[in-house]
Amino acid sequence: MACHRTITCAIVHTPIGKLHLFACTAGLHEVCLAQSTITDNFTSVEEKLQLVVMETKDVSNKVLQESFIWLQMYFAREKARMMPPLCMSTASGDESFMVKCWKTLEEQVPFGRTVTYGLLAGMTDRPKAARAVGQAMRRNKWILFVPCHRVMRSDGSLGQYSGGGITVKRWLIDFEKSG
Ligand SMILES: [Zn+2]
Repeated sequence: MACHRTITCAIVHTPIGKLHLFACTAGLHEVCLAQSTITDNFTSVEEKLQLVVMETKDVSNKVLQESFIWLQMYFAREKARMMPPLCMSTASGDESFMVKCWKTLEEQVPFGRTVTYGLLAGMTDRPKAARAVGQAMRRNKWILFVPCHRVMRSDGSLGQYSGGGITVKRWLIDFEKSG
């Protein structure tokens, strides 16, 4: 089932690079890293966070505003982050299990924690579905908001990060753990 609402795009400059946010009035459609720009001399999160709404038609999109606030709090390590709604109508394929993986991860693996693919599978009541969890993580369209960067291999290695590569994943884990 496709979403027929108008979609607005915004770019947010973050410490990990330029994030593209796509949202309709009901929820976020996609959050992806357009260009990774991690630098070693990164100092102030506040300086780096900047919301630039690309399409001026709908700057009042509430979902984008909520998402921006969420990102500000995330990079400021603030605990109380109100999750903006996600528009799931574009999820396809093995939909229901993936949705369950995304929701479980978002709700049960908080800031600063990590989990393995197998453990997350267990949390969704399908302990043998580690591979399917991996697939759900690869298909995650809301990086940071659905924190697939917190999911690692059982041998302790990072695993993949379709959200922007291993450097970004490492940065996010270190950033969360150092807070
Ligand atoms: Zn939508």
